[in-house]
Amino acid sequence: MSGRVYLVGAGPGDPGLLTVRARELLLEADVVLTDRLVPPEALALARGEVIDVGKTGGGEQVPQDETERLLVEHALAGRTVVRLKGGDPFVFGRGGEEALVCREHGIPFEVVPGVTAGVAAPAYAGIPVTHRGVAAAVAFVTGRDTDGRLPDVDALARFPGTLVFYMGVRNLGDIASGLIAAGRPADQPVAIVQRGTFADQRVVRAPLAEIAAVAVAADVRAPAITIVGDVTALDLDWFEAGPLSGRTIAVTRARPQASALAMRLRALGAAVVEAPMISIEPLAVELPDLAGYDLLCVTSPNGVQRLFELARDARGLAGPRIAAIGPGTAAALRERGIEPDVVPERAVSEGLVEALADVPVSRALLARGEQGRDVLRDALRARGAEVDVLAVYRTVAEPLSDRERDAALGADDLVFASASAAEAFHAATGTFDRPRIVSIGPATSAALRELGCEPTVEAAEHTPDGLIQALLVLGPR
Ligand code: SAH
Repeated sequence: MSGRVYLVGAGPGDPGLLTVRARELLLEADVVLTDRLVPPEALALARGEVIDVGKTGGGEQVPQDETERLLVEHALAGRTVVRLKGGDPFVFGRGGEEALVCREHGIPFEVVPGVTAGVAAPAYAGIPVTHRGVAAAVAFVTGRDTDGRLPDVDALARFPGTLVFYMGVRNLGDIASGLIAAGRPADQPVAIVQRGTFADQRVVRAPLAEIAAVAVAADVRAPAITIVGDVTALDLDWFEAGPLSGRTIAVTRARPQASALAMRLRALGAAVVEAPMISIEPLAVELPDLAGYDLLCVTSPNGVQRLFELARDARGLAGPRIAAIGPGTAAALRERGIEPDVVPERAVSEGLVEALADVPVSRALLARGEQGRDVLRDALRARGAEVDVLAVYRTVAEPLSDRERDAALGADDLVFASASAAEAFHAATGTFDRPRIVSIGPATSAALRELGCEPTVEAAEHTPDGLIQALLVLGPR
């Protein structure tokens, strides 16, 4: 039986503008055929095979008939295919053509609209494309047709409303002079929004007669949307570039944590590449009777999660004092109703050893990852305590696709939040070259040095907050 094709809009850039439906389908699809303008964060959701059929600015591009052939081939092989496009698939996205091809081959398809750049880029520049008393209509226009010809400027000049041009940067001079010759006022306000809704969005404004020269002087490049009309003079600027805007930051962690950190970095304006290096595999163990222990140490949020799975709820962990290695682990305990008795100032094993110096310990249980360090165990044993180690999970290196590898190595900053992520990254890429390296703390830095990489900075506080702080202090590249 044939699979299904989903023609999906990925929105204009800001990953927050991806629809819920698009997200669901990306997680489900066997194959994703993607375009160049698709936000990388959307693509990062894809679990299946990703095929890039995008154009690279005038360069190499998979021809449309080849794209259509791939679409048909994968669908007829019974796969769920997402055809992912920037913005909306039916607005200058050739989605209609691809839907027709599906129809011809009897392949069932669905269309998932996206937020189109022609509405979103102006909106992020504070420009409503319609406005009571100013513009009662809006036209979406391509700045060049398939043969590179200009749009019909005579008809457009008479259009009673806002003109929104896609793809027209290169033809701007001809379009503007054509519109003026056909009757649009030379002083009509125009705005160009480059990379609208991305953290590095830029807006250039000028009257119609001057816009082309101003755009050249400002070195405006694609992708950009040009808005012609009085609505562009409404002063509704609201979009603020965050402190990390203009920076691309690659985050290597276990997937769920990478996503949480990535979301916070994006909120500060960074473009984030997620390179999930490790996944957490629970180990089937039994929680011993805690009555025999006077100390339970947990050394990561993953450890906390596993402990609760093994104990079913907080009551199952009653009895011993509980020590958390750092603020992240402590927060994970508090979320589940346990206030840790000991949290060291330095979130590393050595810090925990110090923090436990005055705590009487006769028998301790260490819940941790299989490959964890033995510093704590050895220090407690040296004090005469009996120590049992309970490995509750294992970290497993995830394969890194070529795309993820290139994206991570092409970033400005590469963030490591654990020694195992650093090791897995090195195993997958063999290099740390080009990006600046940001380490969460001493244990991760030590692992990086073992692999021949001196971290550019180490977070002062060994937590996600500390990582963010370190990135802010590091400043633009
Ligand atoms: N289907 C897309 C449009 C594809 S045509 C949509 O609905 O948005 C490609 C053109 O879209 C670019 O040349 C540019 O004019 C515009 N575009 C796409 N993303 C953009 C963005 N983030 N900012 C400004 N313009 C963008």
